[in-house]
Amino acid sequence: KRVLLTGASGFVASHILKALLDSGYWVRCTVRSTSKATSIEKQYADKAAQLDFAIVEDIAAPNAHDKAVVADPPLDFVIHTASPFHANVQDPERDFLKPAIDGTRGVLQSVQKFAPSVKRVVVTSRQGTAFACPVHSASDGLGYPDWSPVAYEDGVTNPGLTYLVSKKYAELAALKFIEEQKPNFDLVVMNPPWIFGPVINEQAVGSLNTSTQRISDYLIGGKTEIAPGMDVYVDVRDLAVAHVRSLEVPEAGGQRFLVCANDRFSDQFILDTIHKHFPDVAEKIPVGVPGEVKHEGIHFIGDNSKTTKILGITFRPAEETFADTAKSVLELQKKG
Ligand code: NDP
Repeated sequence: KRVLLTGASGFVASHILKALLDSGYWVRCTVRSTSKATSIEKQYADKAAQLDFAIVEDIAAPNAHDKAVVADPPLDFVIHTASPFHANVQDPERDFLKPAIDGTRGVLQSVQKFAPSVKRVVVTSRQGTAFACPVHSASDGLGYPDWSPVAYEDGVTNPGLTYLVSKKYAELAALKFIEEQKPNFDLVVMNPPWIFGPVINEQAVGSLNTSTQRISDYLIGGKTEIAPGMDVYVDVRDLAVAHVRSLEVPEAGGQRFLVCANDRFSDQFILDTIHKHFPDVAEKIPVGVPGEVKHEGIHFIGDNSKTTKILGITFRPAEETFADTAKSVLELQKKG
């Protein structure tokens, strides 16, 4: 089977690519430059026959994926992960909202116009866009609404909300496209919360993705203040398997999946894990109060029962995820 994977140089997509190749798929990767393609090519030199590339410099450009979706033999599936996720919001619409929203709609349009063989498109969204995921904050104890209440304007005026708004409206654009166009492919939406795990994309040396940066801030960045609260997360390796299964399981079509681990995490837990597994670096990072969870702050609870039932995913325990993330950050530091 043949898959187009957008944003293949990213943290999450690099694991999806590995899982697809390991499962025998042929994968065309979209990346923004030939140097990124070369780097992936080198990494998978032993799987060259299963790999192909298309350069898409900017997913926001009109018709950006028109050529990438045309393959011979034709594609069976598309996995769309490419979306801006960084803290550098200069022009919210140009840098975030348009690439996320127009980029997602654009991929679907290109498939509809030029890739009639595609039977399913999987879009990587995020947990916070929606999902009846109860949240309790110290102040309000409110339940989480079905859709995040953020409005498009919030993304333009409040840089702290721009990323969330970009993902919410990208997901809504995808759902609307399917409803209005009734294309001959179906849609699966992945809604992961925080994503952690080992970094395997070579491009990450010197430029970590946003979630890994959260751990690097303690390990390397000298961060001393320990954020309170507990949150949901998923191991990137489990999320990658979820993406692959979502292509293969017929009942996944038309579904949105909250892909989160059984465990939750706190920053204190991350630090406890680093102290336990990496005593050599322990003196450089804060100790806090081992084992304690400060209950002020946000507490998300995730219900992954639909994901485990339909996609058959077994989630890794938190200690494995955070020890492997820390190991990876330390190894990258040596390389960089
Ligand atoms: P990365 O930044 O590592 O990957 C994002 C990918 O998208 C990169 O390949 C990037 O290319 C590409 N991209 C971004 N903007 C554009 C653009 N305008 N045109 C073309 N390509 C673009 O992030 P992650 O791997 O963490 O994120 C992958 C997906 O997972 C995203 O959709 C994100 O929203 C979602 N997600 C991530 C979470 C996390 O905790 N990491 C949590 C929940 C959802 P380049 O690097 O060359 O700029």
